[in-house]
Order: sequence, then C-alpha cells, then structure tokens
Amino acid sequence: MSKYIIGVDLGGTNMRAGVVSVTGKILFKKSLPTVSSADISDRIGDLIAEVILAQNIKNDEVVGVGIGVPGPIDHKNGSVLSPNLPQLSGLPIVEILERITGFSINLENDANAATYGEFWLGAGRDCRSLVMATLGTGIGGGIIFNGELVRGIDWTAGELGHVNVDSGAGARLCGCGARGCIETYASAISTERRFVEELERGRESELSSMDKNKITCVDIFEAYKDGDSLAVETINETGRMLGILCSSMANLLNPEKFIFSGGITNEWDILSKLIIDEFNKRVLTIPGQRMQILRAELENDAGLIGAAGCALKTYETSQ
Ligand SMILES: [Zn+2]
Repeated sequence: MSKYIIGVDLGGTNMRAGVVSVTGKILFKKSLPTVSSADISDRIGDLIAEVILAQNIKNDEVVGVGIGVPGPIDHKNGSVLSPNLPQLSGLPIVEILERITGFSINLENDANAATYGEFWLGAGRDCRSLVMATLGTGIGGGIIFNGELVRGIDWTAGELGHVNVDSGAGARLCGCGARGCIETYASAISTERRFVEELERGRESELSSMDKNKITCVDIFEAYKDGDSLAVETINETGRMLGILCSSMANLLNPEKFIFSGGITNEWDILSKLIIDEFNKRVLTIPGQRMQILRAELENDAGLIGAAGCALKTYETSQ
C-alpha cells in the first residue's frame, strides 16, 4: 500500500493543501481563500477531502495531516496561542479536525514548518542542525538541533525577529513593544520603511520621484546596483544587521547552516556578501568556520512540505 501525507499551509489570505509522497514530492495541491469565521475548520476539512479525491488515493493510504499555522502552538491542547488568525482563537483545532477528517492531525507553527521543510528537502538537507530566518513583513524563524525542531518550554522558541541588535537610545520600536528588534531593521518591509523615512527627511535618491507608498525592495536593489547612495546605505544596513544575527546564532548554537528565505533573497549575491562580511567580523573562529550561510531552496512550498514532513515524523515515531 502506498503512503501519503497531506500538508496544509494556513495563511491569512489563502490556505493551501497538498498530497505529499513520503519522499516529500507534492503530487497535487490546491488553494482556497481563508475564511474569517469560525467555520474555518470545515473549510480546512473540505480542502483536505478535495485534494485526496483529486489525487484519487484511499483514506487509509493517508498516514497523517500536517498543518502549518501562523502563531505559537499549544501542543498540549492542540490549539493556536495568540493566533495571527483571530478565527482560530480558542479553537481546539486538532480535536475538531481529527473528528471532521478522521485523520491524525499534526499542528505546527508556520515558520517552524518551513524550517523543517528546508531541513528535510531543501538547503538544510544532509545536516543535523540549522537556523532559518524568513524575511518578509517581519522576520520569522526556526531552529533545528540534532534533527529536532527546538520549540521551547512554552513552544515559542525560534522568534528570531525579536533578537535585539540595537540597544541605543534611538533604537527602532518593534510591534512587540520592545526597541531594537532585528525585524524592525532587516525584514523586507522594514528595509523599505527605513529607505522611505530617509526620503521623507529630504535625502536625495534616484527613487525620489516615485510614489513613496509603492517603493519596494526590488526598486531599492535596482537603485543599489546603480550606486544610489541612499539605496546602498539602506541595503548595507539590512545586510549588516543580518550578519549580526548570524554571528550571534553561530556563537550561541554552533549550527551547521543558517538559511535565509523570503523574496528579498532573490538578490542573494548582493545580500549574502553583506551578511558574510559582517558575520566574519563578529563570529568566533570555530563556529564561524563551520556555519554555512545559504539561501532557501523550496520557496513557497517550504511550509506545505514541512508541515507534511512534521506529520510524517510523528507517524514514524508512533510506529
Ligand atoms: Zn520585537
């Protein structure tokens, strides 16, 4: 009998589900808009049933369902703590979905799921310990140590975005309420924001004539390549901050790899050089020589593949 896992990546806008082979190949996937009401669990159940039907597999060939969700997971109660999706608040989502679908449900934080995906089949394959950071609106992260996700006693480990990189009086204010968190400097959105703030202060740039609300990291990197001084300064700062993060993680954990994902890594040649320059200035010799700094490989599928991988691991452990 063939075995399959269903991976689900639950986002604020869309939920995606896929039938995944035990070797991590996505055989079929489908996406639906995420509903805002509490019947979100029915919607997830329908999507799981649809992908199973579309791939024409039998229910008893499915060994489990892995779901990646934004927010820290309460693994004891099978729910999401302080969810970014308020419609999940207080829902015993694992229990509900196990009842609806009849499958074993494995819930995981989405950043952890993506990290596990890269560990299983992406840039982190063939290693036992890694740190991953996803650069987007904020900075999400995950840590794998000795082949296991590091979750922490309250399941909140891996919040790389809130590592402090600036304790100065003028440190930037983070959404978490603290000042100086790296995500207020080096996420894609923060990079754009720092650039626009300088324009608003009157700095000149080749992007000065653009609508400030429309300036993205793509534009800033193009200006960087033209030698635009504000763009160079802004991107250099992003790279420098990420280099500080890498050196701190290398000194703390001595991992084999540090992996970056997110659209901003499309400019990996530029970004990686800046990161590595700062990293080399700060890191201790032995962990610095060991740790490779790499770009993620699975792109948008990391979360779905990783959620499925976590469910497969749970299934294999239970056998
Ligand atoms: Zn913060």
